[in-house]
Amino acid sequence: MGAPSSFGTHHEQVVFCHDEASGLRAIIALYSTALGPGLGGTRFFPYASETDALADVLNLSQGMAYKTALAGLDLGGGKAVIIGDPRTDKSEALLRAYGRFVQSLNGRYFTACDVGTYSTDMDVIARESDFVTGRTVGHGGAGDSSVLTAFGVHQGMRAAAQFAWGDASLAGKRVGIAGVGKVGRHLTAHLVEEDARVVVTDIDSEAVARLVQQYPSIEVAESTDALIAADLDVYAPCALGGALDEKSLETLTAKVVAGAANNQLAHEGIGKLLSDRGMVYAPDYCVNAGGVIQVADELDPSGFSFERAKARATGIFDTTLSVLERAASEDITTAEAADRQAEQRIREIGRLGQIRLP
Ligand code: NAD
Repeated sequence: MGAPSSFGTHHEQVVFCHDEASGLRAIIALYSTALGPGLGGTRFFPYASETDALADVLNLSQGMAYKTALAGLDLGGGKAVIIGDPRTDKSEALLRAYGRFVQSLNGRYFTACDVGTYSTDMDVIARESDFVTGRTVGHGGAGDSSVLTAFGVHQGMRAAAQFAWGDASLAGKRVGIAGVGKVGRHLTAHLVEEDARVVVTDIDSEAVARLVQQYPSIEVAESTDALIAADLDVYAPCALGGALDEKSLETLTAKVVAGAANNQLAHEGIGKLLSDRGMVYAPDYCVNAGGVIQVADELDPSGFSFERAKARATGIFDTTLSVLERAASEDITTAEAADRQAEQRIREIGRLGQIRLP
């Protein structure tokens, strides 16, 4: 594959931001602002090369456009990456320099937390920019977005259960969660409360131990491979991308796949393999939209309301069910159905801007 090019894609705008003194090297990408300003987090990551960083930000910003569109938000898709090691390269000067570049886009892009950035960083960036979400509760922000991400994944999982078994209840179902970090922990709580039988795994044994202490009824699988091969009704990938590939499909028997991780399918063909085997894959960006719904609520003129954001995240049930039904009626994969639904909304609602207002 050749080097990524922002002209070889459908992105509206790609901005390179450089401040030598603070060491800031960032790229902000806006895939589409057809539905509203682009919203998406800032990833602070030690990319091996500028090319890798560009490829990531182009991919992630497109994903955000589809996610916000499918979630019914009046927001477009954007994302930013800062090249560097957040543990050693992050400083007040660097974050504030970055904030000034975000400000320079004058509201076309709103930032938020992502891998390597936290709500406290957003507070620093917000000293230079009005276009920052995911701030701490003390600064009027929504705080940790994993709370509604997990809530939304649970809603999407229930919708997939409804589609697969004709009953949304997960009580008695055996659900395997790979990755019990911020989202996986909250998801475990929802499932235990619903009387599902939960099996977890994580490479961080302390995270697992803490969870078992809190919920003694849960089982532990010794690895992700062991979890996938277990006798599961539902598999919930909640760690990294690429969780579903040819190898995992060799042993996976779960009827439903619904989890928080982004980019779960290693490649497009995996979606087809899953549906050929009668498995119900609830598309990742459909079910994990609770986090963006949570931070987007900060943009409401009346200020952030957790209850309002939670009510909107409840809608992930209906959205997931409609995507699964569309896939069945159009004989396409569920991933394709989600894409079509998102593209349709970008087209139909995005064109309303052509009606000129006085
Ligand atoms: P996190 O870093 O808090 O948790 C991830 C967990 O996965 C960690 O405990 C880690 O030890 C574990 N892990 C990593 N590699 C593993 C492996 N090979 N096998 C088993 N466990 C492994 O992240 P998070 O915020 O909980 O997010 C989880 C996933 O959901 C990510 O893919 C993220 O992009 C996605 N997501 C998160 C949010 C959010 O609001 N936090 C929103 C949308 C999507």
